[in-house]
Amino acid sequence: MRWLAGVDATPDTMLEAIAQDARETGRRTGRPALSAAVLDAMRAVPREAFVAEENAALAYENRPLSIGHGQTISQPFVVALMTELLDVEPGARILEVGTGCGYQTAVLCALGAAVHSLEIVAPLAAAAAARLAALGYAQATVRAGDGQAGWPEQAPFDGIIVTAAARAVPPALVAQLRVGGRLVVPVGPAGGTQRLQRLVKQADGACETQTVLPVAFVPLTGGQR
Ligand code: SAH
Repeated sequence: MRWLAGVDATPDTMLEAIAQDARETGRRTGRPALSAAVLDAMRAVPREAFVAEENAALAYENRPLSIGHGQTISQPFVVALMTELLDVEPGARILEVGTGCGYQTAVLCALGAAVHSLEIVAPLAAAAAARLAALGYAQATVRAGDGQAGWPEQAPFDGIIVTAAARAVPPALVAQLRVGGRLVVPVGPAGGTQRLQRLVKQADGACETQTVLPVAFVPLTGGQR
């Protein structure tokens, strides 16, 4: 009954949809069952507080929604999967590139991470910072700026998550990852389909790369041209 889903979507139905997507993609992601910690964090964050009022009834649908400025709040399953692939421990230091509305930031905070998040659209950064503070996510620090350069003063990070499509993995981000740290990033052309990649930094500075799933993100802008 897909066409009725919007009427009834709740945090519980969202969690069920996420678990089902995880099972169906498990062979490719290597994570057919998401960890209890990630599912608890997804349950704990009120997604309706991150979407526009007119989209409140759709807040727990397992789909992306518009947040203005041509940007989107990601699909809940994709947020859950990317969070899972980061393997966040409580107290972990995480860099996020692409704060958007701050939903992914909040999920990472709910897992006990300290999150530094960069957003290139200044009004979105300001709105997300205010929203996260109002909701009590005190371990989130949001700054307006180009995330392709990372946040060198705060490096190294245990994990880096990029929530916009990169044409190639930004080298500054690899440089700011600690050895053993994880980088989760959609890589591919803007406007099409990208491949979600998970990189783990090795002792020699190189990365082991796993290609996970096809995804569709808004483009990562900025960067030195
Ligand atoms: N993390 C969000 C998804 C945001 S969509 C969520 O939880 O739903 C991607 C965001 O990346 C957009 O807000 C876009 O403005 C931002 N972005 C694009 N290029 C960027 C860059 N170079 N640096 C920082 N943010 C960028």
